[in-house]
Amino acid sequence: MPTPIVLVAEDDAAIRDLLTHHLQRDGFEVVAVADGNAALRSARELADVVLLDVGLPVIDGLEVARVLRRDKHDVPIVMLTARSDEIDRVLGLELGADDYICKPFSPREVVARVKAVLRRAGKPFTSRASILQFGRLQIDESAREARVDGIDIKLKPREFGLLLALALNSGVALSRRALVERVWGYDFAGDERTVDVHIRRVRRKIEEQHGLPPMLQTVHGFGYKFMRA
Ligand code: CA
Repeated sequence: MPTPIVLVAEDDAAIRDLLTHHLQRDGFEVVAVADGNAALRSARELADVVLLDVGLPVIDGLEVARVLRRDKHDVPIVMLTARSDEIDRVLGLELGADDYICKPFSPREVVARVKAVLRRAGKPFTSRASILQFGRLQIDESAREARVDGIDIKLKPREFGLLLALALNSGVALSRRALVERVWGYDFAGDERTVDVHIRRVRRKIEEQHGLPPMLQTVHGFGYKFMRA
């Protein structure tokens, strides 16, 4: 199966970043959001599994879970609860969450639970090799480095994120919006054309400076796709 996308819905930036880091290191794609509205949208549109904080702004996590289940959306949900009295609510309301974890938690534990709910949902995830090789270009996912002929290419984090998102979906056109959501996050409010600027930089650093054939192809009026050279 393609890389599962984990939606991390958590308004505490430190926890959000910590979870994102650990999940990415284990080979998951992560979309992180900070409020319940964005969580609902992302859960419906692109998530394979949801890590859902109970205490979220705009719409709280319990309500997000309730709405998803009401709409017969069966994405696996792991609730993150901050207080022991929330556990009773999470369990008592029979929201249809698949699991819950109390804060403070160890990120390893969270990753293990995410894998467990995916397995139970019939979508087992085994970490794939984290190095992708396309001719002379090597993309090392866990080190978050790109190399040409073994030489490290200095890519900024967003540039690497775009390259990786496209390479993981080799041959598939991804819209600018999809790329923004994966690399900048759902709450990105800027211009989607920023994707174009970053793609140009990646092309310059990889294709032009190292004489590689064009791999990042423009899909006019839509976005980009990665084509193996
Ligand atoms: Ca919270």
